[in-house]
Amino acid sequence: MSANRAEAVSSPPARIHATAPSVHNWSLWQEKPRVISYCVLTESVAAFLTVTLLLQSPVAGSDVLILLTLLGLGVLQAELGRQVERLRRRVSGVAHINMTSVWIFAGVLVLPPALTAILTATLYLHLGVRSWYRLQNTPVWRTVSNAAVLVLTCFASYSVLAMFGVAGMADAIELGWTGTGVVGATLIAHFVANALLVIPARDTIARTAKGLFGSPMDNMLEIATLCLGALNALTLAIMPGLTVLVLPPLLILHRGVLVKQLETAATTDSKTGVLNTAGWHNQAEVALERAQQQLRTFGTLMIDLDFFKRINDTYGHLAGDEVLRAVATAITSEVRERDIVGRFGGEEFVVLLPDISETDVTAVAERIRIGITRLAVDVPETLRPIRIDDLSVSIGVAMYPDSGVELQRLLDAADTALYTAKNNGRNQVMRVGDLGVAERRLAS
Ligand code: GH3
Ligand code: MG
Ligand code: MG
Repeated sequence: MSANRAEAVSSPPARIHATAPSVHNWSLWQEKPRVISYCVLTESVAAFLTVTLLLQSPVAGSDVLILLTLLGLGVLQAELGRQVERLRRRVSGVAHINMTSVWIFAGVLVLPPALTAILTATLYLHLGVRSWYRLQNTPVWRTVSNAAVLVLTCFASYSVLAMFGVAGMADAIELGWTGTGVVGATLIAHFVANALLVIPARDTIARTAKGLFGSPMDNMLEIATLCLGALNALTLAIMPGLTVLVLPPLLILHRGVLVKQLETAATTDSKTGVLNTAGWHNQAEVALERAQQQLRTFGTLMIDLDFFKRINDTYGHLAGDEVLRAVATAITSEVRERDIVGRFGGEEFVVLLPDISETDVTAVAERIRIGITRLAVDVPETLRPIRIDDLSVSIGVAMYPDSGVELQRLLDAADTALYTAKNNGRNQVMRVGDLGVAERRLAS
């Protein structure tokens, strides 16, 4: 996750070179032609504009001082945040949180464009070497491309300021409320431009809004960082010495995001992305309590892959893991956002569907079953790609309160129905209500 979206881009692991690889060995050349052309284009335009602007207008000494202040604070922040980043890497393996907008967006409001471009490039160079490369092997080309995209984002923000005839924060202060509006518009423009400019550089372009623009949390964090950037610029324009005060809240915000990630990591099954046993139980207990209070029903599905051991034996454990991920995605796509999907280890999934009748629960279970039979999982193999498409699941369905009023009772009942589905030949849905008397006694 990242405050600056550029790092939300997933990147393949890069080999660490002891020395810089020569141009024809750059890992960028292994990317898709679209990604290569976009990187080369954005980097050339960013470099060309920076040099042209630098040559066009002389640099004032006071601006250099502000540049060095922002740079110093940015580097200090990155260094002080390394401990948190190392921990983040260990617990969740997610990308570095990038809060450089605090300094870079402040640069947009107080520095000439060329100096903000230099600020961006230098901060990224430092982060790229110290954090992204060392902590998570982010390829060098990715860092360069992200920096170029951010430089172009800054230039877009300068155009908004120019459109309103505002030279920067000092000018905006003079303009009063109009100036406030212009700074707000620039902040929004910066956010939107960055969101759009990173899309073509992605390995895969998602079709969903979340895939394209990141999670609400990513976006909120980016907005928060930009807000701090605007306040930072205000301080620089009025009382530069106080700029250092931005650092403590920023470091706390950085750490606060880690807490949220730790919470997610503790309740998520890292292999498939659905809830783990503890996470599922926590949410299921809340759903049970709500159903008890509001006298509602809910369904529980126990889903187990048929002959999964064979898949492992035939294609290997890694292919098996790929199948588990695909099955988790297939199950999640067949249920509602509020349904609670978990994996209880192994190849067993469980779903709780609140506020729903037995007929509808059975229909959902049947949809999941059919969805899995239609699944084709492509496993990338070095020698030859494998396609696994003979999958099926057996599903046990238990209803609250008919099959039990406690969670464990419901799970046991669903498990008994699942066991019967297996015995009846697999690839089928079995409801507790359809079990024979003896089996039902076993379940209760
Ligand atoms: P059945 O139709 O009766 O459910 O047969 P099955 O082969 O699916 O059931 P069994 O319980 O015999 O085998 C489950 C297998 O799942 C055994 C185990 O190696 C495999 N497994 C458990 N966890 C994982 C995992 O995380 N990844 C992979 N690849 N395999 C796993
Ligand atoms: Mg199985
Ligand atoms: Mg099993």
